[in-house]
Amino acid sequence: MALSTIDLHDLELVELTACLRERKVSAIETARHFLARAHKHEALGVYLDRNEAITLAQASAADQRIAGGTAGTLEGVPIAHKDIFVTKDFVTTAGSRILHGYRSPFDATVVARLAAQGAVTLGKLNCDEFAMGSSNENSAATALGQTGPAPVPNPWNTAHIPGGSSGASAVAVAARLAPGTTGTDTGGSIRQPASFCGVTGIKPTYGRASRYGMVAFASSLDQAGPMARTARDCALLLSAMCGPDPDRDSTALDMEAEDFSRLLEQPLAGVRIGVPHEFFGPGVSADVARAVDAALAQFEQLGARRVPVSLPRTELAIPVYYIIAPAEASSNLSRFDGVKFGHRAAQYSDLADMYRKTRTEGFGDEVKRRIMIGTYVLSHGYYDAYYLQAQKIRRMLADDFQQAFKQCDVIAGPVAPTVAWKIGEKSDDPVANYLADIFTLPASLAGLPGMSVPVGFGEGGLPVGLQLMGNYFQEAQLLQMAHQFQLATDYHRRKPQGF
Ligand code: GLN
Repeated sequence: MALSTIDLHDLELVELTACLRERKVSAIETARHFLARAHKHEALGVYLDRNEAITLAQASAADQRIAGGTAGTLEGVPIAHKDIFVTKDFVTTAGSRILHGYRSPFDATVVARLAAQGAVTLGKLNCDEFAMGSSNENSAATALGQTGPAPVPNPWNTAHIPGGSSGASAVAVAARLAPGTTGTDTGGSIRQPASFCGVTGIKPTYGRASRYGMVAFASSLDQAGPMARTARDCALLLSAMCGPDPDRDSTALDMEAEDFSRLLEQPLAGVRIGVPHEFFGPGVSADVARAVDAALAQFEQLGARRVPVSLPRTELAIPVYYIIAPAEASSNLSRFDGVKFGHRAAQYSDLADMYRKTRTEGFGDEVKRRIMIGTYVLSHGYYDAYYLQAQKIRRMLADDFQQAFKQCDVIAGPVAPTVAWKIGEKSDDPVANYLADIFTLPASLAGLPGMSVPVGFGEGGLPVGLQLMGNYFQEAQLLQMAHQFQLATDYHRRKPQGF
């Protein structure tokens, strides 16, 4: 391959890794190229923080390891992190004013694991505040000094949202600003923005990746995962991200890191794809239904079979999630009180007043709404009626998946009922936002792995993603399915105009 640096951002992450290893390009040249791209497309507003000196120093260390023959699996590959992961060399805000200017004394485990394989950090990516949202409209980016547009626009159609909460993680990949990024998924925040921006993203089984250093939203649901252009790229990133973290996160599974690429090349003959009819009701828009159906037909051509299954409690996932997630958030966010982290109100009369003013100024509306809902459902007299009931239904939802997996190997359906909506269309209506999460919440509540694969385009030229959900620990199989699909199609190769 003749390699001019102009092509670098068009390479898939796995291709770029090979070029670096074979020294067709240096890590420094690569880092400079992507930093220049960041400048060129500053108007997208994807970054909340960059530090070029740090990025270049990391790249130069990567070049030394390549020269010394000690390259890691991602040596010299530039990536960017959702601003939910704490980083010692970059500011971490979680998209919130309350963490304005906050610097962590340590790196999140996921960040450290990727760095240990040689990944170079380009910067921190804009997201909905504390990962609460599905449109990037809940980010406090403007208040944090970001001069770009708010929200970050969808590069396929800039009048539309990019999805969320990992919105900028998806935009950075779609706009070729980074070959891969990290995201977090509590109720769909990797899968939905990946779907809306036409990139590939996977949320592994709950507990695969350590949550240490991931600013907590809802601890029983939060999970890290990668986004990139292809399933093959995601497999490489995910293999580096996962693994036990015994002294730091007791919910990180005691399972050694796996090579998630190991099944990629296996054909799909005989694979049974469960198609839950609850995911194909009248709420699904025609363009999404069409693209998803065509993708299922393509899987049949590849040798897979469709099997009708049922996930009867799908609709209940919304009220269950919007009780459990705020309940956990109300507890997790109590640590932001103006004492230990970030923002503190300038004027106050006593300690209680300092707490109150700091939190009033520091949190945005959606975060406050969730703290109130969460406090309410956990309070004496309502705990049994809401929180306990929600926990019981959560278990039933997980059991429903196990029933379905008796008949199939993976489950497929849309990621979201529609393509990305217009900026502002749902911003005054939190419930409209919540309803759009219907298809991603079930796998989150069950702790199952799920991914989004680009399968076409719908209204407004906006991408459509297919969701693949697997049983616990079946990430390698999901990635195999997606990879085989990507060998036969080219949706993942299309790019938005101007990038
Ligand atoms: N949209 C969902 C929410 O607002 C999911 C967010 C997430 O996965 N972080 O809570």
